[in-house]
Amino acid sequence: MREIVNLQVGQCGNQIGSKFWEIISDEHGIDPYGRYIGKTAEQLERINVYYNEASGGNFVPRSVLIDLEPGTMDAVRSGPFGSLFRPDNFIYGQSGAGNNWAKGHYTEGAELVEHVLEIVRKEAEGCDCLQGFQLSHSLGGGTGSGMGTLLLSKIREEYPDRIMNTFSVVPSPKVSEVVLEPYNATLSVQQLIENSDQTHCIDNEALYDICFRTLKMSSPTYAELNHLVSLTMSGVTTCLRFPGQLNADLRKLAVNMVPFPRLHFFVPGFAPLTPRSSLQYRSLSVVELTQQMFDPRNMMSACDPRNGRYLTVSAIFRGPMSMKEVDQNMFDVQNKNSSYFVEWIPNNIKTAVCDIPPPGLKMSATFIANSTAIQEIFKRISEQFSAMFRRRAFLHWYTGEGMDEEEFTEAESNMNDLISEYQQYQDAEVDDEYVEDDEEEEVPAEEYE
Ligand code: GDP
Repeated sequence: MREIVNLQVGQCGNQIGSKFWEIISDEHGIDPYGRYIGKTAEQLERINVYYNEASGGNFVPRSVLIDLEPGTMDAVRSGPFGSLFRPDNFIYGQSGAGNNWAKGHYTEGAELVEHVLEIVRKEAEGCDCLQGFQLSHSLGGGTGSGMGTLLLSKIREEYPDRIMNTFSVVPSPKVSEVVLEPYNATLSVQQLIENSDQTHCIDNEALYDICFRTLKMSSPTYAELNHLVSLTMSGVTTCLRFPGQLNADLRKLAVNMVPFPRLHFFVPGFAPLTPRSSLQYRSLSVVELTQQMFDPRNMMSACDPRNGRYLTVSAIFRGPMSMKEVDQNMFDVQNKNSSYFVEWIPNNIKTAVCDIPPPGLKMSATFIANSTAIQEIFKRISEQFSAMFRRRAFLHWYTGEGMDEEEFTEAESNMNDLISEYQQYQDAEVDDEYVEDDEEEEVPAEEYE
């Protein structure tokens, strides 16, 4: 068995994390008390990837729930699936992080981190062969972002050869009013670049746009945004949870998706997108699913892949359908749009089919793209960051917790470097002469032409 330990940190992290457990429990036939009430052998075949089996035969999420204030976790505990979780795995403080990354990363969060690591160790020791970790958090607040990334670095130090996968919610002014978010997000991205192997960028700006434009909601709530998040999280973890060959564990997914270690920020997508109330009435063909899947309006990161190029793509179709038809459709998309795929990575689309559809749908498709267009979201955050940082606005909240201005400068330039790296590979042609990094400056500009 190849187990995953899940960590959910902060308000957003715990909210999307608990939705993830609700949806996958439903898919695997686990009731809110951890009893198996399912029908098919496939539901149980790889259940140990995410659940521990308790002595009474109950299934318990291998999940650690963390926050610096008790509110959200109280809500999870008293929610419909609250008694599913192991009570010892709820770890929380009382102070809160006040939307301040420094409190999560250096002060309040640092005080609680050892306790969290003890529980993480206990979960890891109980595994037969741990494949890695999965973290859900937001980048805009203080706890999920500051303490979440502190945990990443501590876990990386202790388990350097395990894979770290994150579901990271990118802030948007359309959804949240907190002015510090670009600071918190930039400081977090710097950590994710170093300490995560794969990050699914769940962008509140995109979720808001999907709710508003496609699903016709006038003022979407977090519950509505999180419904999209749970479809995505269930979709991208399908191959880890159900029997099959392609991308069957976190490492295989990383190997297929990440051509350069820093460029591991993925654009997730999902089809079909239909209002929750009308889900069961709509059934799509494989052709429609494929079209929707590549449609920028179905992407959970606010960027348009047509402005960039795909380095790699992974697609997961679910439901009863013909593998041949799926392959043919994917082949056609790639052929018709070949200019959007870098030609120097042949066969950069991988497709899997899982017979079991998600609850409430006959068929679905999930998309995971490593697209150079992701730089658009980093540019958006970077502009908001620079506008404030230029005047050193709000910096005292961070220096007051012992942070140095230099860490801000570094985070800013690290993110800008990431943007340039995406641009560099977007422009790269198959017959470009290979130039070593350190020689680059000595080549006169004309020679590139
Ligand atoms: P923390 O508890 O200190 O980690 O702070 P939050 O998780 O509340 O972080 C604030 C950021 O998360 C803002 O960008 C919010 O818009 C976003 N956020 C908070 N809760 C949710 C949620 O349930 N769903 C989504 N999609 N975003 C959330």
